[in-house]
Amino acid sequence: MADTLFTNVRILDGTGKQAPYAGSVLVSGNRIRQVGRSTAAITPGVATVIDGAGATLMPGMVEAHTHFSWNDAPDLAAIQTLPLEEHVLWSARVAHQYLLAGFTSCLGAACAKPRLDVVIRNAIESGQIPGPRYLAASQEITVPGGLGDEMLPHLPFPDFSFGQVVNGADDMRRVVRMFLKYGVDSIKLNLSGDNFVPGADAKTTWMTDAEVAAAQEEVTMRGRRIIVHARSCASVKQALRHGIRLIYHASFTDEEALDMLEAARDEVFVAPGIGILYALLWEAERWGVDHAKAVSMGYEEEWAAACESLKAMHRRGVRVLPGGDYGFAFNPHCQNARDLELFVKYLGFTPMEALRACTLYGGQVMMRGHEIGLVKEGFLADLLLVDGDPLANVGILRDPKRLLAVMKDGVFAKPPPLAASRQWERAA
Ligand SMILES: [Zn+2]
Repeated sequence: MADTLFTNVRILDGTGKQAPYAGSVLVSGNRIRQVGRSTAAITPGVATVIDGAGATLMPGMVEAHTHFSWNDAPDLAAIQTLPLEEHVLWSARVAHQYLLAGFTSCLGAACAKPRLDVVIRNAIESGQIPGPRYLAASQEITVPGGLGDEMLPHLPFPDFSFGQVVNGADDMRRVVRMFLKYGVDSIKLNLSGDNFVPGADAKTTWMTDAEVAAAQEEVTMRGRRIIVHARSCASVKQALRHGIRLIYHASFTDEEALDMLEAARDEVFVAPGIGILYALLWEAERWGVDHAKAVSMGYEEEWAAACESLKAMHRRGVRVLPGGDYGFAFNPHCQNARDLELFVKYLGFTPMEALRACTLYGGQVMMRGHEIGLVKEGFLADLLLVDGDPLANVGILRDPKRLLAVMKDGVFAKPPPLAASRQWERAA
């Protein structure tokens, strides 16, 4: 693998501490070998030189709550009825698109069929298909009538269900063990309901402590991680009581829940998936959810509660990460970087804090904080070359034209425009 030298770039290192500075970055193999404050500081041997012409070089973004197998359809049933063969192809294509959109790592937050995520992760790791670094999830595990139980009374076939439906601790153990056998990195539990589901709204909490404890015991035994859908206040507390460290949504909280989150802030991550709430409230009319309907479904109340909860968590030093639940018609894949804008506009984040959340904290949530998420010597070479200043406008990160290049593991997934290297040739 040839070395790559980025010269004349503005380095945004991802720590959130340091203002961007002019410099050069040398990539050797799949790692960042040298970061210099001037071009002269680095003497390349045989390296491809990319003249950034003042563009920003930053760490690849991390998506903490990804569903490759959601097929940009308006509802859950449309995801589940996609036949397996098409579903594999779909997921592979989406994985590649995430990488091209600047997400060099994604954390799977549930898939639609038992082995979909595992197969995609393995295909990426073995080089069969291009895609981000990926942690594979199970399907959603739920209880009868909860989010993910799409079975109809006259069609009691588990394969029609979006999630795996369990009854009791023993049944939970059986299903969790099945997914662990398949090789998932994460087991997904739906602790709360969701306003999307008639009869199981976001404030409901139906999984028993015995069921959660059985899952946690199995997962811990095999060194894996439980991740949870937890919109209700009771489900956030339930997750924390059981030592669960990655919580999705956390819309409704009270003082006790916030205190519990703060007490666990060095271990816990929250990835709210705020984009889908925003989209359902204001952008889903074409798909039959106008604003009035969204309000009647409870989304206005949840949006207000979520903004307050997440602002409070951020103030208390809890790591809140962007991304989540892209993959619906009204919230399509690869617009995920919009969450950065929503974090700044509605959750009290500075642009620097929002960027830190999807870089430094992203590496940590991938459980590889020692080598993912920063422009730092020794770290993996997952890098974005961005035309412009994301601190002045985080929105540029979802504009493919502004994302000049994407490098993962020292290799360009999206090569820089020829102009950059030509510029250098002229200079030489
Ligand atoms: Zn989700």
